[in-house]
Amino acid sequence: MSEPLLFEISSGNRKGFSLPPMDVPEKDLANLIPEKFLRKNDTGLPELSELDVIRHFVRLSNLNHHIEKGFYPLGSCTMKYNPVINELLVNNDGLTGLHPFQDEETAQGAMQIMGELGDYLCEISGMDSITMQPCAGAHGELTGIKIIRAYHESKGNPRKKIILPDSSHGTNPATAAISGYEIVQIKSNKEGLVDLDELKSHLDDEVAAFMLTNPNTLGLFESQVVEISKMLKDVGALLYMDGANLNALFGVVRPGDMGFDVVHFNLHKTFATPHGGGGPGSGPVAVKESLKEFLPVPVIVKKDSKYVFDFDRPKTIGKIQGFYGNFLVMVKAYIYIRMLGSKGLKNVTKNAILNANYILKSLEKYYDLPYKRTPMHECVFSGDRQKEKGVKTLDIAKRLLDYGIHAPTVYFPLIVHEALMIEPTETESKETLDNFIDAMISIAKEAEENPELVKSAPVKTPVSRLDEGLAARNLNVRYERKD
Ligand SMILES: *Cc1c(COP(=O)(O)O)cnc(C)c1O
Repeated sequence: MSEPLLFEISSGNRKGFSLPPMDVPEKDLANLIPEKFLRKNDTGLPELSELDVIRHFVRLSNLNHHIEKGFYPLGSCTMKYNPVINELLVNNDGLTGLHPFQDEETAQGAMQIMGELGDYLCEISGMDSITMQPCAGAHGELTGIKIIRAYHESKGNPRKKIILPDSSHGTNPATAAISGYEIVQIKSNKEGLVDLDELKSHLDDEVAAFMLTNPNTLGLFESQVVEISKMLKDVGALLYMDGANLNALFGVVRPGDMGFDVVHFNLHKTFATPHGGGGPGSGPVAVKESLKEFLPVPVIVKKDSKYVFDFDRPKTIGKIQGFYGNFLVMVKAYIYIRMLGSKGLKNVTKNAILNANYILKSLEKYYDLPYKRTPMHECVFSGDRQKEKGVKTLDIAKRLLDYGIHAPTVYFPLIVHEALMIEPTETESKETLDNFIDAMISIAKEAEENPELVKSAPVKTPVSRLDEGLAARNLNVRYERKD
């Protein structure tokens, strides 16, 4: 791989575009800006033509794997293809040019989008009220747990513990800990679901909430939620749903109807928006009526056919975001929901489930399946059988890159040895799934017949196997100029 940095290909005095000649008198900067703010040295920014820059970034994108280049079955992350029309529509000046301090009167269209999106999400989830502020799933969790704490405080005692299953996403225990709660982790049962007896043994009046992902991170539907919700109500605790996997439920069942009190959405997984590399995301949080008064301010409400920001919430947890959330991600979710309609959303769910089950059935002869139940939108295999030949899950993941396919999520959930967590999403065709299945079957054969080949993968990518810890441990983003 030999793509130099823009700084390295900079060739002095080259420009991306030229400005027309000035038609006003030129003034010396020193007369306009105080001396102490003036730069003493040249900025050192690269000087290049537009073509130099475009080619640089296109070459870089060719070296990388992305959803527009190939299949990306990263479990739990929901890497579905996102419609181009979203990008075109959100690039509208009326949306991108808004200022967050603008008077509500002058931004009614944007307020309506946020207000209606909130209504749709409440309807989809069976909840009563919502905040759009959180900027990611983890941020939504923090908001949700703060609301739960405020609720218990209003009853006189914030309580001490949060219970979560051992299959939960790492952000769940992190959220509980950062919110000042003690974490009680409970084991999953043989079916990969919440063990009710174990849950019961931890329930008392110091439990603030149980955080549950449904479908859980094994891709399995937690079928006992109604019972779990009753058990929690008996001790005055609340039920939190990590809704990152809502693309396996929406249009078919609703968290609110199952007894969840709080749910966060990952708009960037479930409702379009390309993601990865840190954002942007959006993690709205919806709550039941009894928790409404604790939502972050401002809450968008409709008064006399106008949308306004309501700051008058004495019991609010405060602000969770500088302004109102990642607005353009909300717009994309809005477009996605409006384009699909209720029937379309239901089909998303059905196809996501069908695709995951097709992969599971096609691969179950070749890879170990620790939980033999019908999954929802993702399936989790174990690489234990291949490991006996010295081929680890990491090697399988690397070998897939040689087949032009991004690796699935590996080594998560933690309760599965050598886990391979595959989420195809609803947007992939049968041909793409078959191509992936063929690759996985060939790798299983290679692991039997030629384990060294798999262990040395990838061999066809721009760079071979990297030291994955090095960049994180020795981060160096400084470019040293040679002159
Ligand atoms: C992705 C994910 C999260 C965290 O969401 P972010 O937007 O990455 O912060 C939480 N729980 C589950 C199950 C997830 O898949």
